[in-house]
Amino acid sequence: MLTTAATSDLAAATAGGAGGAWFVAALLALALLGVLLAWRQSVRRLRRDHQQLGAQRLRLQQQFERLLASGGDFYWEIDLREGRLLRLGGARAADPQAGVDLRQDPLLHPDDREAFRVQVQALASGTATELDLEQRLRDGDGGWRWWRTRGRVVERDGKGRALRLAGSSRDIHALRQSERENRVALQVLDSMAEAVSVVDPEFRFVAVNPAFARITGWSERDVLGQPASLLDSSQHGSEFYQRVRAIAARDGHWSGEMWQRRKDGGEFLGWLALSEVRDGGGQRSHFVAVVTDITQKKRAEQELRYLANYDTLTGLPNRTLLAERLSQSIVRARRQELRVAVLFIDLDHFKEVNDSLGHAAGDRLLRAVAARLQFAVGPSDTIARLGGDEFTVVLEDLADAEAALAAARGIVAGFATPLVVDERHQVAITPSIGISLYPDHALVPTDLLKYADTAMYQAKSRGRNTVMLYSETMDAEARRRAGLLAALRRALPQDEFRLVFQPRLDLRSGRIVGVEALLRWRSAELGEVGPAQFIPLAEESGLILPIGEWVLGEACRTLRHWQDQGLHGLACSINVSVLQLLRAPLAAQIEAVLAETGIAPGRIELELTESMVMQNAEQTLSALHELRRVGVRIAIDDFGTGYSSLVYLKRLPIDTIKIDKEFIGDLTDDPDDKAITATVISMAQSLGLHVVAEGVETEAQLGYLRDRGCDEIQGYWFSPPLEAAEALEFLRRGSASHPLLP
Ligand code: C2E
Ligand code: MG
Ligand code: MG
Repeated sequence: MLTTAATSDLAAATAGGAGGAWFVAALLALALLGVLLAWRQSVRRLRRDHQQLGAQRLRLQQQFERLLASGGDFYWEIDLREGRLLRLGGARAADPQAGVDLRQDPLLHPDDREAFRVQVQALASGTATELDLEQRLRDGDGGWRWWRTRGRVVERDGKGRALRLAGSSRDIHALRQSERENRVALQVLDSMAEAVSVVDPEFRFVAVNPAFARITGWSERDVLGQPASLLDSSQHGSEFYQRVRAIAARDGHWSGEMWQRRKDGGEFLGWLALSEVRDGGGQRSHFVAVVTDITQKKRAEQELRYLANYDTLTGLPNRTLLAERLSQSIVRARRQELRVAVLFIDLDHFKEVNDSLGHAAGDRLLRAVAARLQFAVGPSDTIARLGGDEFTVVLEDLADAEAALAAARGIVAGFATPLVVDERHQVAITPSIGISLYPDHALVPTDLLKYADTAMYQAKSRGRNTVMLYSETMDAEARRRAGLLAALRRALPQDEFRLVFQPRLDLRSGRIVGVEALLRWRSAELGEVGPAQFIPLAEESGLILPIGEWVLGEACRTLRHWQDQGLHGLACSINVSVLQLLRAPLAAQIEAVLAETGIAPGRIELELTESMVMQNAEQTLSALHELRRVGVRIAIDDFGTGYSSLVYLKRLPIDTIKIDKEFIGDLTDDPDDKAITATVISMAQSLGLHVVAEGVETEAQLGYLRDRGCDEIQGYWFSPPLEAAEALEFLRRGSASHPLLP
């Protein structure tokens, strides 16, 4: 405006013409002043404008930064010509004015630098139009945070070459963290053995894991949106499931056992834990249900309960359940003033049968015994197996002891018919039964069982296959047995055994051909104990195995000693228990002791009792052949007591039979024994067997036996069993002065 005025003044002055040069000069000066003033003015305005613009720009920049910061983002620029990086906004510590050297960015994680460099390079060279990567930047605490950085070219030169890149970085740390957590959670869910389902507050399925599909048969697709009642089973009433859900809705959780139904209709027992999930606002959004299939566990528990109470072989109650039932019976009997009987049943010679048949057949035999017992007693009476061949029967509602005895005799009678073990085997086995009574003998189960056991032992010692009612005197007997057994266990280590020797006389030559070794025990506590007392106990307890081995060794060592004293060629009979034959490696033991002592096997004769061999005929057969291979002789002892036929015996590899002293004792009075003995001798000889008569006490007996052609005798007439030293003397004299016969 001022400029325009000055210019028009100048024009007017020029148009005037007559004002002279001064006027023109003044005008010019004025115009110049005006121009100067106007220039100064305009410069000022420009400067002001510029300042305004700067402030505005700063404001804008601050607003931009605030905007970025509010979103957690920051803005970045790269000046490619200078190779500098500038970050704005966010919580970055970088100097926003100067920027940093792109190659030495201190904020960027070293592992992420290369990827960033490659993408920047790609944008710069034009091979990419966009940069997009996740990178770690140092945060204010010195840790690393994840950012997603994106950007593009924002300025190019005239030839289109990139000059400047810009973009933003977004904080994705929390996101990545929760993604990771989610991933881990999902992996856990996928690998869980428990069926996990998520349901909404109305109990409709929202999600399930793979185990859910495996356990229930329902896939995720099947169940999504479906009510959880889809799995309700018929094992509980519907009100059960309603109650569970009501409790969960009220308390936010429930746990317990629950039957559920599979897709295929099968049902399983699960342990269910139901718990609520709340959203960010604290409102319940879902329930999570975790189901463990415990059908197996339950089954195992039931099996355990069964195992704890029942005998697996026979299915009968075991000792535990017996005690429980017996207690209940006692309670009832007390109320009704009646008696309860406990029958303790032990099978006679079961061990030998078991050994000879083999254990599988032994098991079948025990099952057959259980069935036979069940048949013999009423269905309401308890039969239990206590282990081994021991059974117990509890009889209730008895008026007196006679009723119990009658029932027990009924059981014994029930075993008169042999038991069928399999198609090929029938076994005749007998029971020995002891009885105790409530309240007569005892008031508590343990005592009743103990007394019935005592009575059973009495039945055994009364010849087995019989019934005994408990009486107090039996207790003394039981204690005596227990004491005897304890002493017997110590006998071998305490060196309490010795052998005595009874000479055997050959009737044809009149010479001593050998001796029988007989075991003697002088117990430190009990004094001298006869073999009839301790041998059965040693057999029952298995102690006969080490004892028998000692006898073998001692007999051979004695024989060797005598041989060294000049007595050559004497034979020795050694008694062995059938248990040694079946259990011990008898042949190997004998071979070893023969090798050790240098005794020829033909000088040893092993004696086995007839009844034992007959009971175990099949099993003993192979053992006997084994002994034969070693070269020892075999004799059947106590022949005539076991009712076996000679013809049958001949099928066994035996050399000798010894006629039992029972027949010899009555030989001169009893015509039957005479006939039997005569027949046995002639039959045995026709079968090629050597015959020995034992227990010969009189010359009359000797005469009769000699007339019948008996080969050898043993007995008091000739000599009782002698201590080793005496025997040596006797044998020396005997070999010097013959013949010994009248
Ligand atoms: P055994 O093998 O039949 O032995 C014969 C038994 O009759 C012996 O009794 C003997 O002393 C006895 N005796 C001998 N002569 C006469 C006589 O003229 N009259 C009478 N009444 N008896 C006579 P011991 O020594 O008491 O032996 C009894 C049973 O003990 C033996 O009968 C045998 O079966 C067993 N035994 C003895 N020693 C052993 C052994 O080392 N091992 C095994 N397993 N059993 C043995
Ligand atoms: Mg004998
Ligand atoms: Mg005998």
